Amino acid sequence: MRETGNFGCDNDDVSPTPAQQAQAARIARELAALGFALPGTLADRMTRCGRANCRCHADPPRLHGPYHQWTRKKNGKTATRILTDDQFADYAPWFDNHRRLRELITELEALSLAIAEADPRWNR
Ligand SMILES: [Zn+2]
Repeated sequence: MRETGNFGCDNDDVSPTPAQQAQAARIARELAALGFALPGTLADRMTRCGRANCRCHADPPRLHGPYHQWTRKKNGKTATRILTDDQFADYAPWFDNHRRLRELITELEALSLAIAEADPRWNR
């Protein structure tokens, strides 16, 4: 049982609605089942190399790739790595998981803000 102070108000407790509690439980279940999550973005890129006589510098250019390029922030700097097809197959779902993780965090924050904003103890 939780102690609640008397603030001179009949309804002085944080009170998520049943729908809000169900939403929080659904978010928690999905988070628990999510699995691994890799930050950053995956994009297929065509590139030029450093050899001046290469076909990628010809007219018209025939670029190298496409490569599975993984870009993320690492210690404030942009870090880029190229994934093999094998790695791409293995890790692509982890990038999807990370995107979903961000969505769930945003949803949980919005839900929590809505509950806090409805708290009757504000503006006393
Ligand atoms: Zn080249």
